[in-house]
Amino acid sequence: MEHIVILGGGYAGLLCAQELRKHVSSSDAEITLVNKHAYHQLITQLHETAVGARPDRSLRLSLSKLLEGKNVEIVKGTVSAILPDERLVELQDGRTITYDKLVVALGSETEYFGIAGMKEHAFTLKSVNQARLIRAHIESCFARYLYERDPALLRFVVGGAGFSGIELVGELADALPQFALEAGISMDQVELYNIEAAPGILPGFDKDLVDAAQTSLTSRGVRFMTGAAITQVEPGRVTVKTGEVIETHTVIWTGGVRGNQLVVDAGFETEPRGRAKVNEYLQSVSHPDVYIIGDACFVIGEEGRPLPPTAQLAWQMGIASGKNITNELRGAALEPFKPNILGALASLGRKDAVGKVFKSYKMYGKMAYMAKEASQMRYLAKIGAMFHSS
Ligand code: NAD
Repeated sequence: MEHIVILGGGYAGLLCAQELRKHVSSSDAEITLVNKHAYHQLITQLHETAVGARPDRSLRLSLSKLLEGKNVEIVKGTVSAILPDERLVELQDGRTITYDKLVVALGSETEYFGIAGMKEHAFTLKSVNQARLIRAHIESCFARYLYERDPALLRFVVGGAGFSGIELVGELADALPQFALEAGISMDQVELYNIEAAPGILPGFDKDLVDAAQTSLTSRGVRFMTGAAITQVEPGRVTVKTGEVIETHTVIWTGGVRGNQLVVDAGFETEPRGRAKVNEYLQSVSHPDVYIIGDACFVIGEEGRPLPPTAQLAWQMGIASGKNITNELRGAALEPFKPNILGALASLGRKDAVGKVFKSYKMYGKMAYMAKEASQMRYLAKIGAMFHSS
C-alpha cells in the first residue's frame, strides 16, 4: 500500500488531504498529515485577532475534526528535515517518517531583507500565537503608559503597506480607540504609523483602490510614511532610510515573505527567495516525485508573472495536487494546475475594504467588506468547518 505524507496542515495541505480522501480509499493508500499544531489556522484573519476583534479560538480549527472519518493519520510534530533521496522526513523530536509520495505544504517564512534588528525586535503576524502576543502587548503598552508616561508606548508602527500591512493597520485604526478608552487615555496621545519603502501603499494595486484605502485610513488617524524604507529596529526605536527616527515599543513587520528554509535545505531547486520551482503539475522540477504546493512553491501565471502567495491559490493547489496524486495511483494522465484568481480584497478594518473581483470589477466600502466575509464563509463551508473550533 502507498504511504502518502503531507507536510503542513494549512490551506494547501488540508485541502490536499481532503481531496485525496474523496478519491483514494484507505485500502489503496495510507495518508499521514504532519503539522506543528493539532489545529488548522485561519491565517487570513490574523489581523483581526491581533487587535482582539476576533477571538483566537475561532481561528484555530481542530484538524482531527476537519478530517474526521477520513482515515488520515494526524501527526503533531515539527518537521526538521526532508531527505528526498531517502524518502524520509525527520521531526524535531527525533521521530522519522518514510513515504512513497510526499506533498510539501509548509508555507512561507518572513522576509527580513537583512534589516538590522528587525528579526530580534519586531513582531510578525504569521500564526495565531503571534496574534495573541501582539494583542497582549498592545494592552500592556496602554497599561504601562499609566505608570511610565513614556509617549513611545502609545506609538504603534506597522512596517510594510502590502495587503498584510494595510489589513493590520485598518484593524488597529478601529481598535486603538477602544484600547485607549478602556485605559482612560485620550486618543490624541496615540499615534499609528504605516511605513512603506515603495512610493505608495499597496504597490501594484489599482490607483483608485489605493486612493480609497489611503483616504479611509487617513481619516481614521493613520500616518503614512511612504518612500521610507525601514533600515533599523532597536529596542524603543525604528529608523528609516531618510534618517528619521520614530520612538516606539511596537513595530509589527509585514514587509514580505520568502519560501520555506526546509525546502531549500532539502535540496529542492528553488528561486532566489527560497520558493521551490515546480512543473505544471506542481511537482518539484528537481524531484518530480515530490509535490510542493502553496506559499512554498513558485509558479508563473498566465500573464508571465509569479503567482502571489495567497490562501485562495494554496487552497486550489491543495485540490490540484490531491487530484494528481490520485491520477498517479490510477495510472491516469496528470492535469496541469490552472489557477483561478477570483479576486483580491483588502479589509480596512471593521466594515470597510477595497478590492477587485472577477478580474476587473472594483469594490469599495461595506460591499467589499461583505464580499471578503463571504469568501471566508465559502472557505469554511468548503473545508466543512462552519460549526467547528479547536
Ligand atoms: P508584500 O510583499 O505584498 O508587501 C510587503 C510590503 O513591504 C511591500 O509593499 C514592500 O515595499 C514593503 N517593504 C519591504 N521592505 C520594506 C522596508 N525596509 N521598509 C518599509 N517597507 C518595506 O507582503 P504581504 O503584504 O505580506 O503579502 C504577501 C502576499 O500575500 C501578497 O501576495 C499579498 O497579495 C497576499 N495577501 C493577500 C491578502 C488578501 O488577499 N486579503 C492579505 C494579505 C496578504
